[in-house]
Order: sequence, then structure tokens, then C-alpha cells
Amino acid sequence: MNEASPLLEIRDLTRDFEVKTGTLPARTARLRAVDHVTLDICKGETLGLVGESGCGKSTLGQMVVGLLPPTHGDVRFGGKLLWGTHAFDDPLVRRKIQMIFQDPSSSLNPRMRIKKIIGEGLSIHRMGTREQRSQRVLELMELTGILPEQGERYAHEFSGGQRQRISIARALSLDPEVIICDEPVSALDVSIQAQILNLLVKLQGELGLTYLFISHDLAVVKKVSHHIAVMYLGRIVEIADRDHLYANPCHPYTKALLAAVPRPDPAGIRHDVVLQGEIPSPLSPPSGCVFHPRCPMCMDVCSQEIPEEIEVEKGHRVRCFLFGK
Ligand code: SF4
Repeated sequence: MNEASPLLEIRDLTRDFEVKTGTLPARTARLRAVDHVTLDICKGETLGLVGESGCGKSTLGQMVVGLLPPTHGDVRFGGKLLWGTHAFDDPLVRRKIQMIFQDPSSSLNPRMRIKKIIGEGLSIHRMGTREQRSQRVLELMELTGILPEQGERYAHEFSGGQRQRISIARALSLDPEVIICDEPVSALDVSIQAQILNLLVKLQGELGLTYLFISHDLAVVKKVSHHIAVMYLGRIVEIADRDHLYANPCHPYTKALLAAVPRPDPAGIRHDVVLQGEIPSPLSPPSGCVFHPRCPMCMDVCSQEIPEEIEVEKGHRVRCFLFGK
């Protein structure tokens, strides 16, 4: 992370869910989806959050954007505490942190023309006159690569990539500073993925946006991120500058994720650790290091104690007993 003060500060963020485990007799168990996560994101930067499906990435994003209250911990935006205060009741705060999702179709009203979808937030927040709002919608369409004549169409008349452009335009309508991008290209073909990633990078450069970019795909995250955090079973196991992480991955889980990324250059750096087995159920997480049942480097201590976070070099932190003990 750089020396500037972070725009978004996530401190010790934790989220538990009560889950039914039986009906007769009725039983519940605690599922910890996010486990004491601490992260900073500086203005104009992207933090890529990567991990397998079900590791808690989206739950973390929902807590940052105000959709889900944490069980424990804080989120600060521009120094302002968001949870435990009435900050999310302030429309200005809500406007400043927006989210885009994997499947825009489910969040785009099929009975609305896309001009109206993009301008809906402007109307709800009573921003500008009707003419100013129409003008702003046209600007947003141009900014995101949607042709003016397409404004009268409905969402189902667009391809997946175009629908994602519409959802980005809608998110931008409220002049956000932070956008939580939750698997925004996972449902798209690879060539379309590149177009949407390029668009997000271009918008960041033009508008100074800050992204939390959530993905299961390290190849995708590499294209957009300044820093990358690797999440496993609700915990951050490694975090570093993008280039450090790819050149010198430390945690066995990060190495396994990188080994699974197809490489255009077969002579390039290899970190071949093959990931075995399934991610364990968060209802009964393994003792000690939660990665130990799948870790090829597992030692006796790993199943007995929880590793602390160690800084292996400036800005590069890892939770693994192979380091610092
Ligand atoms: Fe593997 Fe042990 Fe490191 Fe966990 S602490 S990643 S089990 S070596």
C-alpha cells in the first residue's frame, strides 16, 4: 500500500450467519463468512480481492457498500465511520459507494428503457432539472460506449457485455468515488471481458475512481489491480502490490491459484503448487491454519495454531508459518 491516507479503511470486519442445521430438533450453527478482515484502499487505486467461490469475498463487498451489517468491525470512508453510526442513512454517503454485479440482467428492470434505467438514480436523488438529467444520461452513455440511439431499447435487446456497460453507466450516474466490482466479467466471454476491464481502467483514469475488484480469477485481477489481497475461508492470507505478488507469491494458496492461471509464456515464472480437494465448509472450519488440509507444505504446528500476519517485505504481508517462525 502507498503512503497516502486511504479513502476506504476496512478494520477487523467480521460477518457471522446463523444457519439451520436440523429440523427435529431444530438446530442452528454459526457460519463465519468473513473473519477479521483489515484492508486499506487509497483514492484512485484498485484493490483486487481474489479467492475461490464461497470464500466470503462478496459478503465483504456487501458490508462495504452498506447492504449487509457486519457482526464486528468497522468501515471508514474518507475517515467517516459507516457502520455503528447513521452514515448509511445519508443519501450522499450512499451515492459515493456503488456496486456493480456479475449478472447485470437480474438488476436491470426488463420493462424500462435503458435511458430510464441509467437516469433512475438521478431522479430518485432529485439531481438537476429534467433536461439536465437527460443530458447527463447521454454523457454517461457516451462515457461507457453506449450509442445515443440505443437509449430507447430494453435491457434484453443487449448482449451481456453491453448490459454490463449499462450497469456501469447507472452506477456512475450518482458520481461515486468508490465502486465495488463484484465479479463484473465472470459471466462474459474472454474477448468481451477485456473490453469491460479496459473500460473500467479508462474510467478510473478519467474520473479518479477507487475500486474494490472482487474475482475468483487471478488473471482478471492482474489486469486491473494495483494491490491484491488473497482470501481463503473468510480470512486474508496474503496481500501485496500486484507485481510483488506475481513475482514472489509466498502463501501456498496464492501459489496454487497462480499455478492454475493459464500462462501465455510457457517459459515464464512457474509457481506450481497444485490445489487439491474442495474448500472446507465454513460451518466447520479446520483448526489452526484453515488451509492446512489442502496445503502441500503443512507442518505439525499448522493444525494447532493460527498463523499471525507477517510482513515479509514492505507492503507484502502473509499468514503462514513458513514465514517468521
Ligand atoms: Fe500451509 Fe502451514 Fe502455511 Fe498454512 S501455515 S499455508 S498449512 S505451511
